[in-house]
Amino acid sequence: MKEISNIKAFGVIGDPIAQSLSPDIHNFWIKKSNISAYYNKFHLQTKCATEDIKALQRFDVQGLNVTMPYKEYAIRAAVNVSETAEKIGVANTLKSTPLGWYADNTDAVGFLNALLSCLENKDLTGKAILLIGAGGAARAVAYILSKQNVDLTIVNRTVSKVDDLITELAPAAKSNSLSDLTNDMDAADIVVNATSLKAGLVDSIEFPDGNGRLFFDLSYGKAPEEILRKASQSGWQTEDGLRMLVEQAALSHELWHGETPDVEAAYQMCQEKIR
Ligand code: NAP
Repeated sequence: MKEISNIKAFGVIGDPIAQSLSPDIHNFWIKKSNISAYYNKFHLQTKCATEDIKALQRFDVQGLNVTMPYKEYAIRAAVNVSETAEKIGVANTLKSTPLGWYADNTDAVGFLNALLSCLENKDLTGKAILLIGAGGAARAVAYILSKQNVDLTIVNRTVSKVDDLITELAPAAKSNSLSDLTNDMDAADIVVNATSLKAGLVDSIEFPDGNGRLFFDLSYGKAPEEILRKASQSGWQTEDGLRMLVEQAALSHELWHGETPDVEAAYQMCQEKIR
């Protein structure tokens, strides 16, 4: 089946999806650049995710962002996979090609760009970085940080998952359990929280004095408010995941439309929308 208008279809799939800011971000750039396209959100509830994602390409959808819980299925639905997505094991961006989907992961570089924008000198060289978490997002963060000249430690509730992550993606990193978190945080220049922020974890974190060091939480909106407040009260510079969201979206936009969009304008628009 072919689309009947010349407006190209893009979108994001996930479950849940109602709260996604991706349509706001992408349609903002599409409008600004006068591109003949529209970006929608698709609430995909399925037990056959791989087949359903493949089918969307047959319906002439030109590009997709993929969020939880379908990032692993996006790789399986693709005929070609970027080296980054292949290594990390999950994809968040699909581009239609004549052969089928091409899968990429823009979370990794999107995170790096967002992190660098928090640093005055934009330089990570020699920094001690503590990464909390070993899920899909943490894998993207570990992968890209392992390519920088940093001293990386990764901690997670399930230690075996950190060990696997280190073996596969960041062989020079050190691992630890969550039991010594305050000391691990104290030894770090930058702390990155890539856990899904369940209440138990937020309550249990005892922040050491931050002295202006950076605490970067990957989640955004209401979810990280409490943990960012705790960090800030202990003297940490804080950043949520909104800038990362916009940075990873910018890389998807570049892949689909071949142009670099205005990240700062979209970031301001999102901030106004969620406040
Ligand atoms: P995930 O794959 O489900 O991983 C969840 C992580 O949280 C695991 O490390 C898990 O530990 C840990 N965790 C969950 N509950 C915990 C608890 N009670 N105590 C301690 N640890 C706990 O999720 P994900 O896809 O990596 O996403 C993680 C976060 O990143 C989410 O908040 C997501 O919204 C955010 N994110 C943001 C962006 C962005 O653009 N800003 C992009 C992607 C993801 P175990 O391994 O022990 O279960």
